[in-house]
Amino acid sequence: MNQNTRKRQTTYLVNEIFYSIQGEGSAVGMPMIFIRFAGCNLACAWCDTDHEHGSQMTGHQILEAIIRLAIGHSKPIAVCLTGGEPMCQVDRHLVKILCGLHWPLHIETNGTLWDDCLKEFETVTMSPKEINPLMEIDLCRNSSWSVKHCDLKLVYTDNPADMERLITTWGVQPFRIKFMQPMTTIHGTTMNGKEQYSMNTKEVIEWVLQNPDWRMSCQLHKIFQIR
Ligand code: SF4
Repeated sequence: MNQNTRKRQTTYLVNEIFYSIQGEGSAVGMPMIFIRFAGCNLACAWCDTDHEHGSQMTGHQILEAIIRLAIGHSKPIAVCLTGGEPMCQVDRHLVKILCGLHWPLHIETNGTLWDDCLKEFETVTMSPKEINPLMEIDLCRNSSWSVKHCDLKLVYTDNPADMERLITTWGVQPFRIKFMQPMTTIHGTTMNGKEQYSMNTKEVIEWVLQNPDWRMSCQLHKIFQIR
């Protein structure tokens, strides 16, 4: 999908807009204004995000909400588009409005939907969840842009066959940084603090030690119980 074939959105279904600290990936620890878009084109068994409900907002209403959260701050604040799957809705029109802030833009995507407007983002974190027919994307083929501008984040599951397929498909691509992250939920139940999470984390530590071109990531916002 490219910018010429994407239908222009007049409003966007937004689940929530809030100010917090990035808990995972290469921008961990960075204060950000998060825009969580409702809805996703995948249905992962372990999905822990309540993203189904939302309010219809125009691009300018989203911008106003961001500016309201930034009142009292004199310095730029990074803005992170997340979901759900933000690329089900994000288009060039919205990105142009957000670029008007001249603040760093970040996005977290499952990588199934491509649009050239992704080039405007300082950080694109791609987190493929499964191999399925939707995953036709080949960033190198669809654009002059390449995955070397993106971070890859794989969630380490307890299914060795799935992991093998994800790693051999995506791990061989020239991403900027490759992260392996322990799964913190399974079938909607939090694993945080439980034996299963601890085992999963130990496996990721061992795996990253064996694969030093990868980095370990974790979900600090869940560990510290921040939003
Ligand atoms: S891609 Fe992300 S938001 Fe979508 S169902 Fe999977 S875990 Fe949930």
